[in-house]
Amino acid sequence: MKISLTFDNGPHPDVTPRVLDDLAAAGTPATFFAVGRQLDPDTLPLLRRAREEGHRIGNHTFHHAAPFGVLEPPLEAIDEIERTQALLGDLGAERLFRPTAGGEVPDRRLMTPAAHRHLVDGGYSCILWNNVPRDWANIDGWPQVALGQAAGQDWSVLVIHDIATGAMSHLSRFLEMAADQGAQFVSDFPDNCVPIRAGEPLWPMDHLMRIPEAS
Ligand SMILES: [Zn+2]
Repeated sequence: MKISLTFDNGPHPDVTPRVLDDLAAAGTPATFFAVGRQLDPDTLPLLRRAREEGHRIGNHTFHHAAPFGVLEPPLEAIDEIERTQALLGDLGAERLFRPTAGGEVPDRRLMTPAAHRHLVDGGYSCILWNNVPRDWANIDGWPQVALGQAAGQDWSVLVIHDIATGAMSHLSRFLEMAADQGAQFVSDFPDNCVPIRAGEPLWPMDHLMRIPEAS
């Protein structure tokens, strides 16, 4: 059982430091997908620490307001990507991008043709997921749910959130349980969760986009 551990929607000034402590104690690598509006002089150093401790950093939109397919003006997909990318600076050098789904399972609202083209042209990797234990709703029970899902998958890309729900108080317990069950934590992502890798489309995202009708 292979697991790529990803933290979305942070960084958070109180939660992310504890998450980093727990990951360091367990020797577990992870990726932090940061929301641009969370980035300020207090939280940017947390991402810097994460990178120094061997974790990867990605871009998770600026406002995290809605999936690209249903963004209302004045919010716009390419701006949502580039504003956060600019704030990340050198921390964003890997050009990892994770879109906002508006639910656990991505649907046709996820992406737009214009944003897809932008990610390809910009050399981004688009990182999706296949294991969402709903830690924001199942504060105490998410570790069991995550491991149950992972047990049925060759390679899980697990999404949890370094935000102030209380769920991250169970992170170290989760890491212990996972190790006991033989989980191997890795930094890379499987192709089936990566529709675009370093600007190269690996598989079509048509089922995740509302294609405008030809007129
Ligand atoms: Zn998110």
